[in-house]
Amino acid sequence: MEKIVQSLKMEREKPFCAYLYHMPKLRQHINFLTSTLPPLCHLFYAVKANSDPEILKALAPIVHGFEAASLGEIEKIRGVDENIPILFGGPGKTQEEIEGAIHYGVTLLNVESTHELRLLNHIASQKGTSISILLRVNLRNSVPNAKLKMAGVPTQFGIDEQDIPDAIALAKSLPNLRLYGFHFHAMSNNCDSKTHADFVDHCFGKAKSWEEEWNINISYLNVGGGIGINYLELNNQFNWDDFTNRLEKVLVKHRDISWKVLFECGRYITSSCGYYAVEVLDIKQNHGQYFCILRGGSHHLRLPAAWKQSHPFTIVPVEKWAYPFERPKVINSAITVAGELCTPNDVLAREIQVPNVRVGDILLFSYTGAYGWSISHHDFLSHPHPEHLYLEPDDFISEQSIEFVRTRYIDPLITN
Ligand SMILES: *Cc1c(COP(=O)(O)O)cnc(C)c1O
Repeated sequence: MEKIVQSLKMEREKPFCAYLYHMPKLRQHINFLTSTLPPLCHLFYAVKANSDPEILKALAPIVHGFEAASLGEIEKIRGVDENIPILFGGPGKTQEEIEGAIHYGVTLLNVESTHELRLLNHIASQKGTSISILLRVNLRNSVPNAKLKMAGVPTQFGIDEQDIPDAIALAKSLPNLRLYGFHFHAMSNNCDSKTHADFVDHCFGKAKSWEEEWNINISYLNVGGGIGINYLELNNQFNWDDFTNRLEKVLVKHRDISWKVLFECGRYITSSCGYYAVEVLDIKQNHGQYFCILRGGSHHLRLPAAWKQSHPFTIVPVEKWAYPFERPKVINSAITVAGELCTPNDVLAREIQVPNVRVGDILLFSYTGAYGWSISHHDFLSHPHPEHLYLEPDDFISEQSIEFVRTRYIDPLITN
């Protein structure tokens, strides 16, 4: 990737600023995930992690379907695939969104409240149709200790576990709704395979007890997404092999039931294929600390500022220097990497030890394919947007053989 960034830089006059997507790596990664999940498990992609149509196009033939959280996402999905299954969730659904979901043939709708049950039933009866639903549960406990928690703590998501019996009774009484199961998305960025498998087991137990107690017949257990990326230690990622081994044991334990188990992962699917490459515009020292200023920043990659953590990067050296005066640099020092915005919050990495960095070099941030561009405030300060480049095998051939690319850039999630 460094070589490609160098050659792309040579072709450009303006300071470099681009999102790069390693498309072969994305396809290889998603193929690996879908092919190693046990039977009865289906992997959906949670579109909000990165809704770029090129990414959706690459994933559509490989994933089981997409998870959407708005009508806009549903429309993006239908723009790349007219028939692929869609799960639709999220708090605060409007009448327009629900009508859109019916219009676009959403497969299952995750219901977030009892009011939403009544609203759905009302709209479905007006349209002379029925809607297939899962009840989204906000568990009281047993949610792994991940970076973000949507359940297990008071949040705006789902129906409180203790109110689920009432919600089941209500759903059963509404003629235009079909209750097919439960939805448990509860956390984001869980990097621990054991607690994730335990969570799936816990969801099985809950759904089973409700099915028996309330005499319903369910078909789906949606355990959500939430598998994480370890941004702080890139060589210590979620152990997928261990997870799928444990998951198989969970399925054996519950072999008396034949529900389909739905996963709707976002971050874990697209994070590793994305890179954000951005040129250093200035280097200076303030109050004894070095700052590198980039032709970009948190308006393109908000994640590190949002989570107040340093995002991993490598330095791509650029030899060209256009000016007749001294090129600013730092050697063997700690640098804080800041963007071009006029706010002290625009920091991508703090006090990182680097061997050598100069104005005009490019910083290459990895693992930016999920919750990168999609969650950022692009137009704050009205700077130009980055380029978005989708690298295919041909782009790598010019630099070195494909074999080299395969071995060098093979997904660390897979090799570890
Ligand atoms: C965001 C979200 C996901 C995906 O979460 P990741 O942490 O990216 O895997 C899945 N389901 C729902 C309901 C979500 O809101």
